[in-house]
Amino acid sequence: MRETLELLLSEVAHLVEATDAPAHDLDDASLLSRLSSVGRIRRLADAVGVALSAEAAARSDRSAEEPLAKRMGERSATDLVSRSAGVEPTEAGAWCSLGPLVTSRRTLLGDLLPSERPLAAAALESGDLTVGAALAVTRSVAAIENRADVQTVREVEQFLVREAARLTARQVGRIGELVRDRLDPDGTAPREDDLRRRAGIRETRSADGHIRWIVDMDPETAGLLTAAVDAKTDPRRLPRFVEDSQEADVERDERTHGQRRLDGLVEVARASLRTDEGTAGGTAVTMLVTVPYEALRDGVGDATICGVDASISAATARRLAAEADIIPVVLGGSSEVLDVGRRRRLHTRAQRYAMALRDGGCVWPGCDAPPNRCEAAHAITPWSRQGTTDLANGALLCRFHHRRLDNDGWLLRIRDDVPYLIPPPWVDPARRPRRGGRTRVPSELQHTG
Ligand SMILES: [Zn+2]
Repeated sequence: MRETLELLLSEVAHLVEATDAPAHDLDDASLLSRLSSVGRIRRLADAVGVALSAEAAARSDRSAEEPLAKRMGERSATDLVSRSAGVEPTEAGAWCSLGPLVTSRRTLLGDLLPSERPLAAAALESGDLTVGAALAVTRSVAAIENRADVQTVREVEQFLVREAARLTARQVGRIGELVRDRLDPDGTAPREDDLRRRAGIRETRSADGHIRWIVDMDPETAGLLTAAVDAKTDPRRLPRFVEDSQEADVERDERTHGQRRLDGLVEVARASLRTDEGTAGGTAVTMLVTVPYEALRDGVGDATICGVDASISAATARRLAAEADIIPVVLGGSSEVLDVGRRRRLHTRAQRYAMALRDGGCVWPGCDAPPNRCEAAHAITPWSRQGTTDLANGALLCRFHHRRLDNDGWLLRIRDDVPYLIPPPWVDPARRPRRGGRTRVPSELQHTG
């Protein structure tokens, strides 16, 4: 805690020293660097809050002789922390949940035990992780703890901590689920059954007259429905990719994303009703399923639906692969795209699928746009300057980021299938490459045996 406080102090001192002008007088770079300072101060202060909450929670434990929270007239440690610190109960709850996992504990004999999640603890204490991201890491690690050996658990923690510094808590949680499914492929099928069993649509009515559907879907259903709705959602008819040179005329769409999705669903329903009985199966929809070769061959392991970021069992993947318009993409050991489909040799359409799989969507750091809202760009050397049209020179970018790349002086490089964006000097004078693309679960973190 001492070191965290010292880091906090020096960050505050830095901010105090730098703040000699009101915010509206700052130039852009100074404004952004101050925001970055404040973020770090907040993360460091949170780390101290977590450490103190752990102690408050321990003293409030019901097995204690006189639980602290009870003595203070509070129902729980969370309530006590919330009131004492003056933070929202949800925040206090997060501090208290994280506390016991990342602080060192004392045994009954007074010996100090290291924290359960030393790497997450270190990243939190040095101000690299938010509380939310640290919680997502610890939950993900807890989910695999009895499925893997100590060494693997440590590697997973290391991997997630490293990724968490650049991802949101929700994204970390999703990556955590993928890691869990990799380590426990036998668990995917039962989980899938369970998800299917609990899936469904509930209907309620809101006071203002809306009919509300609450839809719980298993990944396969979500993949299919998302692809079908997205295909009807965009005026550019998805999935479709636009060449750099080809400027699509898209009239301005004032609808929210939610409204467009609903309209897409309605379109699907209309099309289905128009079609003759018995043929409306939605098979014209393209859904990309990534499946390791062994999984396809042996039916053991798991596969991923592109754009949904969720695992399905190998059995489901094989069933899907048997359907005409699902394109199975077979992966080699390190998850690089080896072969897309088998019907034709590699061509533009296949390259675009391969890009969708490799990039998983817009490669811009932090952008969540799925493949079907992206364009295939001649990312590195433009077509006009003899750039080739191949995978090594292409990447998926959403329309917005495609413009940034083309017009705003950013550069894109792909190294070992990982895209890096190099900012122009006015964004970062040192032009440090920023890692983009989706996080891929490394092949070391695989179920073996
Ligand atoms: Zn984007």
